[in-house]
Amino acid sequence: MVAAPRCPLLPPPRSVDLAVIGAGVAGCTVAAALRLDGWSGSISLLEIGRGSGGRCATRRSRLDPELQVNHGAPFFNLRASTPPRLIDPLAESGSIARYTEVIRSLNGDGRIDDPIVDGFSEGALWSGNGSMDALCQGLLAIATADQAPTELHYSTLVRHLEPNGQGSALRWTLRDSTGAVIGEARWVVLSGTLLAHPRCQMVFDWDAIPLEVAAQLRGDPKLQMAQRHLAGMKAQASSNLLLTLPTATAQHWLKQPWRILQCDDSAQQRWGLRRISLQALPSGRAAVVVESSPAFARQHQDVYGSRSSAALLLGAKPPAQAEAAVLDALEQALQGALQLPTEGAERQLMRWGAAFPEAPGLPQNLMLCSESAIGFCGDAIAGDGFGRVEGALRSAETLASQLSALL
Ligand SMILES: Cc1cc2nc3c(=O)[nH]c(=O)nc-3n(C[C@H](O)[C@H](O)[C@H](O)COP(=O)(O)OP(=O)(O)OC[C@H]3O[C@@H](n4cnc5c(N)ncnc54)[C@H](O)[C@@H]3O)c2cc1C
Repeated sequence: MVAAPRCPLLPPPRSVDLAVIGAGVAGCTVAAALRLDGWSGSISLLEIGRGSGGRCATRRSRLDPELQVNHGAPFFNLRASTPPRLIDPLAESGSIARYTEVIRSLNGDGRIDDPIVDGFSEGALWSGNGSMDALCQGLLAIATADQAPTELHYSTLVRHLEPNGQGSALRWTLRDSTGAVIGEARWVVLSGTLLAHPRCQMVFDWDAIPLEVAAQLRGDPKLQMAQRHLAGMKAQASSNLLLTLPTATAQHWLKQPWRILQCDDSAQQRWGLRRISLQALPSGRAAVVVESSPAFARQHQDVYGSRSSAALLLGAKPPAQAEAAVLDALEQALQGALQLPTEGAERQLMRWGAAFPEAPGLPQNLMLCSESAIGFCGDAIAGDGFGRVEGALRSAETLASQLSALL
């Protein structure tokens, strides 16, 4: 048993057949693919964020209903010749569409040129229809079709993974950071690496890595090996500047002959920027998402933005001066690179601590630890699409096929 206090005031925990931790592309895909396979068991999706999407989320504002900013991936590419099998149903339902915006590159002299090969723009290009979060919403529509019992729990951080019982009597108890029971499940899928990786101790100040504790309790060598692989993975961070431009300023931007600007190596070195995405908003406004280079993000690794999930969950208030300095640095770099105005723009910092996993990923033979009734999917799994949306889709479909034979 994990040393975590029980909360006697909570209602009896809901017990489901499968708990999926994370409602990004991979978590939503595993639920949708199981439904496509005809599996009708109960699924509970548990997600830290206020909605689905993860690194394919769209930022919205209750105060400004027209505002929507794709602040993670602005689109995705499928490089392998056979697309993931959920692509057709997602396209047919209108949840995703071909991405047809103009992609160009920027070099260190400030010249705009043909697109470069950056890993994200080769092959068939797609995006959520209207906004990137339509991708996960489409997956969830499939997961909940035919009144299949699929529950969604947002603003829910799973902190403890507690295995109880053996063999077919094994059940997982999931607890939050107070130790209160969130739910129980026969099977668990982890769609992100947070619970397996030491960065959870750095971000949340936890005293242990939840999956490491669980693997020790289980004494399952395969699960221990999977956990060690995941814990050893490195990832590149990205410090993103989000600008919302008023109409008068946006008109200068919207005249540009590009919507995605990839920064080549020389531009990355000169300005510390990796990619710029220009997104038109209603009423002539525009949003600009400026992705930093990995080197810039490393230099500013402690500054994560007062509106980031980490800050909201921890109730932390990062030092305003440090945040303003990073915002200034990114805005100045943008102005230096493009010579375009930013007057009247609202600024936000969004720091993705683990934006892009670095190879090698988790070997596919460790994706499913059936003795311990736990599986892994997401863009951190080795194989086609590693580190991209394509990998999140493919790994989750592969895991769902393996699970549907066992569940
Ligand atoms: C700025 C940026 C730009 C990108 N651009 C591209 C691009 O152009 N093309 C491309 O293909 N890919 C791109 N990517 C990568 C792409 O976004 C990811 O590969 C993909 O979204 C990964 O999906 P996932 O489901 O594997 O992981 P995630 O999206 O990270 O989903 C994991 C989810 O699990 C949740 N979670 C984790 N731990 C817990 C917990 N303990 N309790 C509850 N919930 C939990 C997280 O909140 C998250 O929502 C980009 C990423 C970033 C950050």
